[in-house]
Amino acid sequence: MSHDCLFCKISQGEIPSKKVFENDEFFAFHDIQPAAPVHLLIVPKQHVTSMQQVTENDAGWLGRMMVLAARIAHENGCRPGPQGGFRLVTNSGLDGGQEVDHLHLHILGGERPWSQRADQNA
Ligand code: 5GP
Ligand code: ZN
Repeated sequence: MSHDCLFCKISQGEIPSKKVFENDEFFAFHDIQPAAPVHLLIVPKQHVTSMQQVTENDAGWLGRMMVLAARIAHENGCRPGPQGGFRLVTNSGLDGGQEVDHLHLHILGGERPWSQRADQNA
């Protein structure tokens, strides 16, 4: 846990959020400024700054986070099948458009049109 980190505080329940899922490893919640009809964020509970820091040792939980993302998407309004679907985004570093320095996966979905922001950096 990093004491100055917004998403550490949210995933520990110290700052309120609209939670959609929690287990020992992950916390998922609604983005405060949705860029699509469904806009959720999944974070690992351990503090990892971004995809720039991950190594081979992180492959397990990163894989579990991707699998969880598909499940959470479908449980929270993303439509199934090729006509539905969702977009997963993880911005990393300044050049990647990252604003909150705790690795997170954006889940974007719902019927289009979405805001342009959702197709740029969410
Ligand atoms: P990034 O630009 O780092 O990939 O995305 C950060 C996301 O976090 C943005 O979409 C922003 O709306 C969201 N966000 C920032 N502060 C808060 C907050 O306090 N609560 C929630 N739920 N989302 C936040
Ligand atoms: Zn953190």
